[in-house]
Amino acid sequence: MMVFVAALLAIGVLVFTLLVRAQDLPELEPVSPFKYLEERRAAIYENLRDLQFEHRVGKLSDPDYQQSKQGLERELAAVLAQIDAVENAAPKAAPPLKAAQPGAKAASGSPGGPQVAPAAYTCPHCGAKFPGPMKFCGQCGKPMTTEAPAQ
Ligand SMILES: [Zn+2]
Repeated sequence: MMVFVAALLAIGVLVFTLLVRAQDLPELEPVSPFKYLEERRAAIYENLRDLQFEHRVGKLSDPDYQQSKQGLERELAAVLAQIDAVENAAPKAAPPLKAAQPGAKAASGSPGGPQVAPAAYTCPHCGAKFPGPMKFCGQCGKPMTTEAPAQ
């Protein structure tokens, strides 16, 4: 009985620690959240194995086992979600493909310099230029035709 209570306590403390750490970590260790998450994931797997073992040898009753297991599985899901989030946020090094193409054109030497502004952003009535598409010209107030930039 003592062993059983001790095991439950240990699991409770563990889950609690994991929960608290989950909220603390991103600020404490912004450099390598990945490593930490991997370690946590491994730790949870280990806990699940321990739990299954204790259940199998009869240290844990079914309801206790189920409850602890569900707690750990929730933890695991949270960790996996965080790993996903980190993975999605990580690739900063790769993407500037889209930015590189216009930049490359400009760098290859068009004489006009920054006159790359699309005709769609130029008012067909007064010739005012805008950085983005607009419904009405900010200069003369007439409608800007975004579909027919050929004028
Ligand atoms: Zn205008």
